[in-house]
Amino acid sequence: MELVFATNNKHKLQEVEQIIGGQFQLSNLMAINCHEEIPEEQDTIEGNASQKARYISNKYQVNCFADDTGLEVDALGGQPGVYSARYAGEGCSFQDNVDKMLKEMNGSENRAARFRTVISLIIDGKENLFEGFVQGEILCESRGGRGFGYDPIFQPIGFNRSFAEMSSIEKNEISHRGIAIKELANYLHGLELS
Ligand code: IMP
Repeated sequence: MELVFATNNKHKLQEVEQIIGGQFQLSNLMAINCHEEIPEEQDTIEGNASQKARYISNKYQVNCFADDTGLEVDALGGQPGVYSARYAGEGCSFQDNVDKMLKEMNGSENRAARFRTVISLIIDGKENLFEGFVQGEILCESRGGRGFGYDPIFQPIGFNRSFAEMSSIEKNEISHRGIAIKELANYLHGLELS
């Protein structure tokens, strides 16, 4: 089955290909000549995933899926959540977000946080949602040079290394997106069998 993953983020495409690339023909937005910005105007992670997938499905008439992820920090009342990409302001870099998070969390004893991903899959116009999350903590300083986003300051429970100190294969095994993608893959395999 041909499936469009509504992203141009190379890191994400690589992560997803490692999990479902073998069985499915995956393409990205560039491959369908989609160069415009996809609307993400909702105030929930689910809402944004759904809006992105519906936009691509309606406009390009393809089977597709879109993901949305947020980092939910307990001491910050669940923020930045759906605003994780622009936590330090519109157009900010990953480093700006990391710097802001370290500053906001300076001195905080409660460092519990989770990454949460929701995937919206649309096949022949019908939508299904899949979710994955990983519980962990916000470190007091950046560690490691791999991954992207908040990876250098997020350490999953039961590990003494940040996501940025893990290989992508190791991270995929336990990550929010890895879990959501496995849920998606299970569903797709079920469709193929039926
Ligand atoms: P998106 O909805 O997947 O684009 O994620 C929103 C923001 O969350 C990104 O811009 C990153 O800052 C952060 N993020 C998403 N996934 C990850 C991850 O696996 N590691 C670290 N940060 C992530």
